[in-house]
Amino acid sequence: MASPKNKTAAVVGGGFTGLVAALRLARAGMEVELFERGDALGGLAGDFALQGTHIEKTYHHIFRTDRDILDLAEELGIGKTVMWCNSSLGVYRDGKTWPFMSPLDVLRFKPCSFLSRLRLGLVAYYLQKKSNWQVLAPHLAHEWMRRACGEEAMNAVWGPLLRGKFDRYGETVSMAWLWARIHTRGNSRDSIEKEKLGYFRGGFAVITQTIESELVKMGVKIFKNAPVEALAESGNGIKLKTNGQWKEFDRCVFTGPSPVLAQLLPEDKPELQDYRKKLQSIGYLGAVCLVFVSEQDLGDCYWLNINEPGAAFLVFINHTKMVDRSLYRNKNVYYIGSYRRTRPDHPQHARPAKRDQSQCKPDDPGHFFAPMYVFAFVPMDYGGQ
Ligand SMILES: Cc1cc2nc3c(=O)[nH]c(=O)nc-3n(C[C@H](O)[C@H](O)[C@H](O)COP(=O)(O)OP(=O)(O)OC[C@H]3O[C@@H](n4cnc5c(N)ncnc54)[C@H](O)[C@@H]3O)c2cc1C
Repeated sequence: MASPKNKTAAVVGGGFTGLVAALRLARAGMEVELFERGDALGGLAGDFALQGTHIEKTYHHIFRTDRDILDLAEELGIGKTVMWCNSSLGVYRDGKTWPFMSPLDVLRFKPCSFLSRLRLGLVAYYLQKKSNWQVLAPHLAHEWMRRACGEEAMNAVWGPLLRGKFDRYGETVSMAWLWARIHTRGNSRDSIEKEKLGYFRGGFAVITQTIESELVKMGVKIFKNAPVEALAESGNGIKLKTNGQWKEFDRCVFTGPSPVLAQLLPEDKPELQDYRKKLQSIGYLGAVCLVFVSEQDLGDCYWLNINEPGAAFLVFINHTKMVDRSLYRNKNVYYIGSYRRTRPDHPQHARPAKRDQSQCKPDDPGHFFAPMYVFAFVPMDYGGQ
């Protein structure tokens, strides 16, 4: 495209990617319209009102290495709303909470023998320092970790994490994924003992709201409750169907999950068949998340991995152990989270629209959210996909 000026663009999806895409395109001089299926913007980082402020439907924080969102906050003039908070990590195993932050914590982790604890600590240190993740990508995480840390550490620490995060597909995940988790977390530390995590005063809603008002100022049309139902070629451009109506644009950016894009592509284009198959081959995980408020203080860790065999959920998050509870009318705010493989052919999963909505009124003590497409599953051939 020679010059974007005066060209029209549709952005499908009002999550952070769609919001930023709309911002960039509008700033480049395009006439932009944004279409969001839900009744609010923010996507997976979307928020709801709780205790006089806004909080994410699913637990969110920023690592020091998350330069893109930090730079975006600066660019939007809200860099000062980022608070760097003390974090703490624990593992619940054998009926007990074990702090899991420092090398000393790892050495005190009794569910493993002393030798296993030593291996566990050394391998975690090695992965934090290693930057060439490409050499790990062809390895299965559970095999690589079992070889490096031993059976005991696998059973008590990494196995439950992989199963909890990827359901029964945990044994097919690439080591590149596990490296990314350990590496990012390790590099968000001030010292070997202390981890700092970022959070916006007012929640991630400050990003959503700031971009929305910036878009409105620039004349971007934002349509909520506007699911895009089909895409088709139109002359040199593209047209999309939403709420039964076709609209034409010069360009379109789709920011939703790949399997959803596959469903929107025109059926009568054989040249798109391979592309559609590729999109459909990417598996997704969905999340289940309960947010609740309590007067009771339920433990000291911000992030507690539940590594007990047969546990019903993966993680217990004590949000107000990271962010000051005075921001939530002095209440404690908690999340309980778990993940499930998304099956687009499953009858429950085939009805996406309502599943990520709160089942409760804003003042209720508990709020349940179940977004279907949370992150792409990372098998060993993910790069090829
Ligand atoms: C439990 C959980 C915890 C997380 N924690 C963190 C964290 O701590 N830190 C972090 O950085 N990230 C975290 N994330 C990930 C982060 O939320 C996402 O990476 C990010 O929000 C993705 O934004 P996106 O715009 O790419 O996609 P999405 O947020 O998925 O946005 C896509 C949007 O497209 C819309 N859409 C889809 N199909 C259509 C259609 N046909 N028509 C119209 N609209 C459509 C959807 O409704 C949605 O609003 C977490 C996610 C979850 C679920």
